[in-house]
Amino acid sequence: MNYDLIIIGGGPAGITAGIYAARQKLNTLLITKNFGGQLNNKAVAVENYPGFERISGLELIQRFESHLKKQEIEIKIDEVLKVEKKTDNFVIVTKDKQKIESRAVIIASGADPRPLEVPGEKEFIGKGVSYCVLCDGPFFKNKTVAVIGGGNAGFEAAIFLSNIAKKIYILENSPQIRAFADNQEKIKKTGKTEIIINAVLKEIKGDKFVKSTIYQDMITKELKTLEVEGVFVEIGNQPATSFVKDLVDFNERDEIKVDFETFQTRTPGLFAAGDVNLGRYKQIVTAAGEGAKAALAASNYLQEINSI
Ligand SMILES: Cc1cc2nc3c(=O)[nH]c(=O)nc-3n(C[C@H](O)[C@H](O)[C@H](O)COP(=O)(O)OP(=O)(O)OC[C@H]3O[C@@H](n4cnc5c(N)ncnc54)[C@H](O)[C@@H]3O)c2cc1C
Repeated sequence: MNYDLIIIGGGPAGITAGIYAARQKLNTLLITKNFGGQLNNKAVAVENYPGFERISGLELIQRFESHLKKQEIEIKIDEVLKVEKKTDNFVIVTKDKQKIESRAVIIASGADPRPLEVPGEKEFIGKGVSYCVLCDGPFFKNKTVAVIGGGNAGFEAAIFLSNIAKKIYILENSPQIRAFADNQEKIKKTGKTEIIINAVLKEIKGDKFVKSTIYQDMITKELKTLEVEGVFVEIGNQPATSFVKDLVDFNERDEIKVDFETFQTRTPGLFAAGDVNLGRYKQIVTAAGEGAKAALAASNYLQEINSI
């Protein structure tokens, strides 16, 4: 089967691209590992998606998914391992060993949590170290935990945990907190969160489960120990691009470079929308908007190559 368009990813960018592509009557296949992407990890309510004053990330993405499934579009739950170019077509190689061809591709594979890369991190995954507060937070009832990262994700994780845990430390490696003012207000109101700035995590220790973390105070250079039973890693994301190394250019954060008018990469017919590209403001509404634009640009591209 040869498709007009293959969309990789089932988060806000990929789903919106799918809805727009189907309405452009493109013969489209959407391949994704799962539906929801980062919104599956969304611990608190979304309060900045127009039309919904407050909605959980999970409910919002379920609405996206159900809207998509009402369109004429094929969906395949699978992982893309490689995108190649063969004369006029792209060839997509998937984990279940399929090779599928299309004339255009939209990469909307978003991002994965960035690891800390400190001793003990890998060893204690699932034994106290977590990258998903919504999934694992409830296991830490009345326990003391650390959230690593003082940005919005770290603060939202701590706000969620404040209903469960006994005490929460937020460790931020820079001298300044980067979370929005409203999140900082909410943290103050929890009354059980301690923020430690200039704190660089060095090690996670334990036996069967996490028992403590060691961080360095960057001002005094002293190594300090915090006794915690959980470590929630919230230090940003790594774009999911391993399958497309040869056909696109990257910036220093491994984000795909695109032309912001069309969201096309350096390879004609290959587009990138949402958190996977170098766009600065990574939100649901921006990812969805970029997915819509990339699908319309892909439709134009296909019309142009078909009329040559
Ligand atoms: C804790 C947290 C809180 C947030 N809060 C908000 C908020 O309140 N408001 C807001 O606007 N934004 C918020 N965001 C940001 C928002 O979730 C993202 O900007 C948005 O999800 C990006 O959408 P995306 O479609 O680009 O990527 P993602 O959501 O990352 O989706 C990527 C999709 O691609 C799939 N995929 C990846 N690799 C492959 C592959 N090789 N093959 C097949 N499929 C693949 C994934 O399974 C996933 O379905 C938050 C994010 C986090 C982590």
